[in-house]
Amino acid sequence: MKIALVGIGKIAVDQHVPAIADSADWDLAATVSRHGTVDGVETFTDMAEMLETRSDIRVVSLCLPPVPRFDYAMQALSAGRHVMLEKPPGATIAECHALEAAAREAGLSIYATWHSRHADMVAAAKTWLADKTLKSLTVTWKEDVRRWHPGQAWIWEPGGLGVFDPGINALSIVTEILPDDIHVTNAELDVPENCQTPIGARIAFHHPKGAQVSAVFDWRQDGDQTWEIDAVTDVGALKLRDGGAVMEVDGTRTGDAAPLGGEYPRLYARMAQLVRKGGIDMDLRPMTLATDALALGRRIPTDPFHD
Ligand code: NAP
Repeated sequence: MKIALVGIGKIAVDQHVPAIADSADWDLAATVSRHGTVDGVETFTDMAEMLETRSDIRVVSLCLPPVPRFDYAMQALSAGRHVMLEKPPGATIAECHALEAAAREAGLSIYATWHSRHADMVAAAKTWLADKTLKSLTVTWKEDVRRWHPGQAWIWEPGGLGVFDPGINALSIVTEILPDDIHVTNAELDVPENCQTPIGARIAFHHPKGAQVSAVFDWRQDGDQTWEIDAVTDVGALKLRDGGAVMEVDGTRTGDAAPLGGEYPRLYARMAQLVRKGGIDMDLRPMTLATDALALGRRIPTDPFHD
């Protein structure tokens, strides 16, 4: 199937282009980007022109930051294209509901991707937790913003999510592996004096069966990056390491993939399945937790951030 990639920036180049190139399902037929290009692929700088000129391309994958994404997604749906959305699927929950409704109305597929859910050991962790009583779950997500978002001003602007941009990856795993839904009860947000979004966050959640659930996100991590989830149950402990690529249960380690390994090929395989079957996949639970933490969180001014 022919696909167009929109927003040729860091994640498009690092993950989407190689995943599409290695897939038997997809043919990268066009890009839409004001500055970015992909060698050998027809380039448009205007979305409307691509949609009008390339009526043979039925699927569009959006790799833009969250704030501009809604307009691009709505244009694609209005032009009868199936849509794949990078995470988070929009800047607000209402936008995401509007996109889902538009897709449903038009009989098109729309996919809110959560790449971290496709890390190697997430499905195994979900299976292991399914029949156990959770006592506690702790998320520690600490990385270096300069390494993953070099020069990206949008992450510090309203709607950019700040440290919730990676943190939402942890929330996507937690909402996938826990049998029960959680919700935010309170949060503290470290907001640099010159930014609109947090660089650090500590969040507490309500668990319907009384487990202690909490998360720490930090973007000021030098050296090793930490993407860990620790769950303690009535019959043992589970650790997810490297963003879900590695699992340890009571000291026994499984999984040897690198962080992010295999995630994007699985997203594109899922999109191919949705398009073929005419399905919609818009789980907004990670986004709800992130936006609730931003709504409830107590802001603590902190040192200015300079890239
Ligand atoms: P990015 O490189 O800053 O942006 C991607 C591209 O979007 C830019 O190159 C730009 O292309 C286009 N763009 C930016 N602002 C725009 C605007 N206002 N209107 C239209 N186009 C605009 O960001 P990224 O790191 O790739 O992240 C994009 C999305 O992927 C985010 O939602 C992020 O959460 C997600 N993601 C990122 C990573 C990561 O490690 N960076 C990992 C997983 C997921 P042109 O200027 O050429 O139009």
